Amino acid sequence: MSVRVVARIRPLLDKELEKDIIVRAESSQDDKPTNIVRIPNPKNEAEVFSFAFNGVYDLETTQEELFNKEIAPTLKSLFQGLDTTIFAYGVTGTGKTHTMRGGMKLAERGVIPRLLSGIYRRGKKVTKDSGGETSVSVTLSYYEIYNDKVYDLFESPDKRSLAGLPLREKDGKTIVVGLSERECDDLKDFERLYIEANNNRSTAGTKLNAQSSRSHAILMVKVTQINGDETLISTASAIDLAGSEDNRRTENNKERMVESASINKSLFVLSQCVDAIGRGDKRIPYRESKMTRILSLGQNNGITIMILNLAPLRSYHLDTLSSLNVSSRAKRIEVREIENEVVFTQPPRKASAITGNNISRQPLR
Ligand code: ADP
Ligand code: MG
Repeated sequence: MSVRVVARIRPLLDKELEKDIIVRAESSQDDKPTNIVRIPNPKNEAEVFSFAFNGVYDLETTQEELFNKEIAPTLKSLFQGLDTTIFAYGVTGTGKTHTMRGGMKLAERGVIPRLLSGIYRRGKKVTKDSGGETSVSVTLSYYEIYNDKVYDLFESPDKRSLAGLPLREKDGKTIVVGLSERECDDLKDFERLYIEANNNRSTAGTKLNAQSSRSHAILMVKVTQINGDETLISTASAIDLAGSEDNRRTENNKERMVESASINKSLFVLSQCVDAIGRGDKRIPYRESKMTRILSLGQNNGITIMILNLAPLRSYHLDTLSSLNVSSRAKRIEVREIENEVVFTQPPRKASAITGNNISRQPLR
């Protein structure tokens, strides 16, 4: 099992009036790709924190570039029978949905449609290379986890039980009982199904009084290769996570608190799993949340990619720092690679209104 943690910094949006950019991508070595995120310490602006990643993508990175660098290389192992899991993690408004789903225009398409396109292309090649003997089929499941309940996004919201779908153990695997699987033969099929299901996500949201930023959306793409009596099955999962912001800061109604508690717990377990996989631990705490349990995260030889989405603006300062702090794997790389580097300083700013009490719970360096 391997894991890559990469960061992607989104550009400023046209509607954004604030232009105070505080998050920067840098390279630990000249002429090497960027791998470090730098951000000032909110308590002392003269100090700048650095976090190293397996890759850092700055605001100019296109959808195509991100896909080609991070996701396309995993297609080969998927067809060798290994599972792939891709997460977009970050505060609401930092580009998770843009990264995973993307826009309608071809160039704006995100990881998910490109992944499907890559799977179909490779599937055709596998069939061709086997002289037509290997057949490849693709099925999709798509569900959301909201308040720790699982809802099928291929099911129309009015048919759905508010209690959610139950989980059951079968042959050592966790299955979602009653989750539908749709055959999906080509990209056209996929686009139709995906758009329909995404509409269900927002409709379900209204019914549950939730917003998409309060649920995890998990797309599972099952690839089945059959050659005679040999069958090889592998799954690529792509997850648009709930926003990682600390809602306790601004929201205090009961419903939001319940949501927050469940989001915080599942994101915490996820980060623990990613860390454990990164360290090569035998024990991955994947059973401790529904999402990681359904994904059997870390229980096979596949690849996990966590894309940490970041907004570069000062208004996200504290949330950005807690996002950066989430993966101790990212921190560990930091220590190893830039331990001896002099922390560069910025001219001190006037004392800001930020008290920093929200980040003091985690050591920063
Ligand atoms: P999230 O899903 O994390 O809440 P979104 O994906 O909805 O965030 O992004 C917030 C806004 O920023 C959207 O309007 C989106 O189109 C825009 N955006 C995010 N990332 C990029 C990017 N890399 N390039 C251009 N626009 C982006
Ligand atoms: Mg979103």
